Amino acid sequence: MSKITPDFLPDQIAAEVADLIAPGIDSLNPERSDNSKTVPLSLFVASVEQAPIAISITDKKANILYINNAFTQVTGYLAAEILGQNESKLSDKCTPRQVYYDLWHTISRKQVWHGQLVNRRKQGQRYLADLTIAPMLDEQGAISHYIGMHRDVTQAHYAEQQVNNQKQLIESVLNASPVAMVVLDSANSIVLDNQMYKMLISELGYAEPALFFLDALQQDMGDLWSTLAAQPQGFVNREIRVEGIGRRGTRWFSCSGNWFCENGTDADNFFSRQSSNYLLLTINDISLQRSQQEKLQLHTLRQLMSEEEHIRSIRETLLGAMHQIRQPLNQISAAIQIMSQRNDSQNQSLKDLLSQVQARGEETLETLRRCVPEIPETAVTSVNINQLLHETMLLHSQKFLANGVVVDWLPNPVLPSVLGSANKLRMLFKQLIDNAVNAMNRAGVNERLINISTSTDHDWVRVAISDSGPGIPANQRQKVFEPFFTTHQSLGGAQAGMGLVMAREIVSQHGGIIEIDPEYKNGCRFNISFPSQQHSLGVSIHE
Ligand code: FAD
Repeated sequence: MSKITPDFLPDQIAAEVADLIAPGIDSLNPERSDNSKTVPLSLFVASVEQAPIAISITDKKANILYINNAFTQVTGYLAAEILGQNESKLSDKCTPRQVYYDLWHTISRKQVWHGQLVNRRKQGQRYLADLTIAPMLDEQGAISHYIGMHRDVTQAHYAEQQVNNQKQLIESVLNASPVAMVVLDSANSIVLDNQMYKMLISELGYAEPALFFLDALQQDMGDLWSTLAAQPQGFVNREIRVEGIGRRGTRWFSCSGNWFCENGTDADNFFSRQSSNYLLLTINDISLQRSQQEKLQLHTLRQLMSEEEHIRSIRETLLGAMHQIRQPLNQISAAIQIMSQRNDSQNQSLKDLLSQVQARGEETLETLRRCVPEIPETAVTSVNINQLLHETMLLHSQKFLANGVVVDWLPNPVLPSVLGSANKLRMLFKQLIDNAVNAMNRAGVNERLINISTSTDHDWVRVAISDSGPGIPANQRQKVFEPFFTTHQSLGGAQAGMGLVMAREIVSQHGGIIEIDPEYKNGCRFNISFPSQQHSLGVSIHE
């Protein structure tokens, strides 16, 4: 305690310090005097002396009367070097005047001031002081002294600045990125996004494009989504095709996602560590690359489809011929059977002749069967029905123009993928569109309109292709799916009555359903449904 009233202090200051100590702590805070009397004065003094925060007591002009041990540790000044000096000795002089003005304006109104100043230690190093100054009042309620308490917060400030700088750096990198990025919390609320993401909002017309993409990805990935959500590696380059709405064209986006965990920052979570899950979703617009690819692909597709068309027409011609030959052969076979049952020995030579004709006929059929070309097998992949329909329509564009057909294309903005053979599915759609155009031509209808739409229904992808032609009578709606049945008189070529047989076969190979809508009155509408990829993972596509 000897430090409190050292001999070297000027007389006036020494007297003030003695006054300060003599009445004990009561004079510092009269309101608490009753309570403090139970504690010896020496304990109060020792508490201040040993408190782990730099404490100084000054007179009204900020001349230092007392410092504790922590003050010496922080500032480097011993009591003998600083007592009697003004607190301004600590000032680095780079603190703006306005701060001091504010400080004095506050404390001289008997209020507590708290703020940060740049101080300089005795050895000359700067440090950031987090300072609180409280005025001390005498019995008349006038300011008698000030108590200052400060901590060196340089490190904390450094860490905070580092965090801020990193945040700014991350934000600049995110904003400079040509890829849209968004971070969502576990309730799918957006906690961070970048400029490219904000651009998506206006380009796609969705208030929150992230939610739209999440929905599309979840539809596309099904149960896989929740499996991946539990794994940090997430998913990469899942392509989402977004159909153009209004004048906006079709867009392709490649989406990647990573889930990460963040430790809770609330005081509640200080001891019991709680963490929150976040998803970083990146959305890359790959429409340009995709449309260039599509153009190139279209050229190849045209060639491929004309070859397939050729093969199909040979198949149908041969199958038609076999069908034609099969009928008389069946009749010959029936005649031979009757003759055998009657044991008709008179007509034995006729029976032998018929048997020879039958054997030749079967040989011919076998030869023809061997000549029927196989439709080439194609790989089973994840396909987007909107894309296939779009391609088929592009391949038909000249035909539509030549036949004065208007096509109304109403795709679902986003469709889950379907597992299947792109070639076969294209053949299916081509067949149905060809049928529609032919039907409208035959009926000579004036308004030639084809509506093609897609939709989703739970785990199913639905396609509706309708035309404004004459329609198919109710009693023929099942028959049209039978081989060689045609509503058109002349057989041959594309009208051989095998198109819908093939269509039904392709649909059933994909685990789907095709039917003629009985409710549709303005022509003919085919409804086709396919299980989405997630739903059909167990279905194997086979011939
Ligand atoms: P000064 O000439 O001292 O003052 C600058 C301005 O402050 C003046 O223009 C005036 O507006 C105001 N001012 C100064 N003295 C008074 C007064 N008595 N009454 C009303 N207004 C006044 N400063 C630090 O830099 N670091 C510290 O750690 C620090 N601790 C302090 C602890 C206490 C308990 C108190 C009371 C003050 C403390 N100060 C501290 C403030 C210090 O006293 C100086 O005001 C400040 O350092 C500016 O010093 P200066 O020499 O640049 O300007």
